[in-house]
Amino acid sequence: MKAWPKEAVKKLKAAHSLFVLTGAGVSAASGIATFRDAGGLWENVKPEDVATPEAFARDPERVWRWYDARRRRVLQAQPNAAHRVLAWLETQAPRFCLATQNVDGLHQAAGSRGVLELHGNLWLVRCTQGCGEWEDRHELADFPYRCPHCKALARPGVVWFGEALDAGVFEKAEQEAMRADAALVIGTSSLVYPAAGLIDRLLERDALVVEINPEKTPFSGIVTVSLREKAEDALEALKKAWSFAP
Ligand code: NAD
Ligand code: ZN
Repeated sequence: MKAWPKEAVKKLKAAHSLFVLTGAGVSAASGIATFRDAGGLWENVKPEDVATPEAFARDPERVWRWYDARRRRVLQAQPNAAHRVLAWLETQAPRFCLATQNVDGLHQAAGSRGVLELHGNLWLVRCTQGCGEWEDRHELADFPYRCPHCKALARPGVVWFGEALDAGVFEKAEQEAMRADAALVIGTSSLVYPAAGLIDRLLERDALVVEINPEKTPFSGIVTVSLREKAEDALEALKKAWSFAP
């Protein structure tokens, strides 16, 4: 990639509080399809057609088979350089927050701690009758998944289109965005709200916002710096530039 703007690296390095928002693009180099090119990979369905409460009510087996396919794909995936550099960055900043829209757990696999998972996690399963939520990494055998306690339908512990985010998790992300003096927005189309609203919070406060995305987004023209680069390339370059910055 082209060199990082020196001033941006300097400000990132000097930040008291660094905020990072990631999306599916961060996991692209790990072989996990982003939302937009998902159709071909996942049984030719649009996520909007399977990742909704309506789809689950209509056909829970289909929804579970789709999630099972995603779970299997993620089981074969490894974190890439983007995940690794973000785990390293956490050790450099005085205060650091990573909020992700991804449900694949690859940030944690790379060593990031305290990740705010805005949209849940593929390994969480929740009883629809309120028995609770638990982690299950097993390969699924029966579809749809049923709660082992009450035999009611269980559902993936992810946030579907049209559903509210976990208020506690989102509020924490919002608070961190509002106190950050610098931020990275990486691999997200920034179209899905309320997650994209975190970028508005950052911009309202004049924080330095660096966007990393090979494609333009609605925020590309208003962030401080928009790098039209792949996450893995730009973050590796950032780590190198970091050691030379004042
Ligand atoms: P998105 O698919 O809408 O956007 C992905 C963005 O990544 C695009 O703007 C694309 O240009 C960019 N991109 C592609 N390759 C990249 C790379 N190598 N480096 C950097 N950027 C790259 O995804 P989103 O913005 O995360 O939001 C859509 C929703 O889909 C989210 O709610 C998310 O939960 C869900 N989702 C999650 C995963 C996952 O967990 N990995 C995968 C697909 C979708
Ligand atoms: Zn139950």
